[in-house]
Amino acid sequence: MLNNLTQRLSRVVKTLKGEARITESNIQDMLREVRLALLEADVALPVVREFTARVKEKALGQEVVGSLTPGQALVGVVQRELADLMGGDAVPLNLATQPPAIVLMAGLQGAGKTTTTAKLARLLTERQKKKVLTVSCDVYRPAAIAQLQTVTAQAGAEFFPSSPQDKPLDIARRAVDYARSHHFDVLLVDTAGRLSVDEAMMREIQELHGALKPIESLFVVDAMQGQDAVNTARAFHDTLPLTGIVLTKLDGDARGGAALSVRQVTGAPIKFAGVSEKIDGLEPFDPRRMADRILG
Ligand code: GDP
Repeated sequence: MLNNLTQRLSRVVKTLKGEARITESNIQDMLREVRLALLEADVALPVVREFTARVKEKALGQEVVGSLTPGQALVGVVQRELADLMGGDAVPLNLATQPPAIVLMAGLQGAGKTTTTAKLARLLTERQKKKVLTVSCDVYRPAAIAQLQTVTAQAGAEFFPSSPQDKPLDIARRAVDYARSHHFDVLLVDTAGRLSVDEAMMREIQELHGALKPIESLFVVDAMQGQDAVNTARAFHDTLPLTGIVLTKLDGDARGGAALSVRQVTGAPIKFAGVSEKIDGLEPFDPRRMADRILG
């Protein structure tokens, strides 16, 4: 995950740690490396510019204290700024509402929506001991409903059946009634994906959002898409009040730029990261831990 970025940055870190003095010139050298590393990782250019400007400002302005070497202090600045870039503190899933807490899953086809719905069901069932129901409103691909049924069973959660003949809104309403009368804590609503952002899709998901009033609307996006991931996230964020983003396939050889810029560009927090195809391959996203990992 983010291997190139990690390699490049850890080279910078190694050099810096040995520096006894921070000068304008070695800051410039360091920033050049950081800028290259980020661009190579496919981080959006304006994000890179702002990031390096902030690191520079903090590095030049900082007092070097205690037993830290100046080089280490500088590395600390990069680390904190990286974490801040990805959102700073982790933002957990919000389920604080009258049950069932409804979570709407949105995203393009192939992003990993159905898989993520089941992974989330599993995480909530196992770790938080929640009673979870899943439902598919994807009436366009009959296989999608069957797929959710299969993965929900793997997750140990309950599945609410739907049929391609039904209307998405009707399915959603029935599922909410069922979840309510059977005392479910959480209802995860998988929706139809399209190959690209189109108006009909946006309208449908807006209608679902209006009817369901979910406490969480998560946008699931494939991190391997790099810059495109950020653009699609922004398009969705413009039409739907997203409460969070799930970055999938962070285990692939993604250059990882999406992880670094999606927060900055959309303003929506990354709440989870998909790290394998398996049912337990979903982790709550923690910007600070991620920054540590990236810096090796
Ligand atoms: P949907 O069309 O958005 O519902 O996408 P799917 O859930 O069907 O996922 C598409 C493909 O991506 C499937 O082969 C999944 O196994 C795979 N996938 C989803 N999330 C991850 C992940 O975090 N890592 C990896 N390696 N594969 C994933």
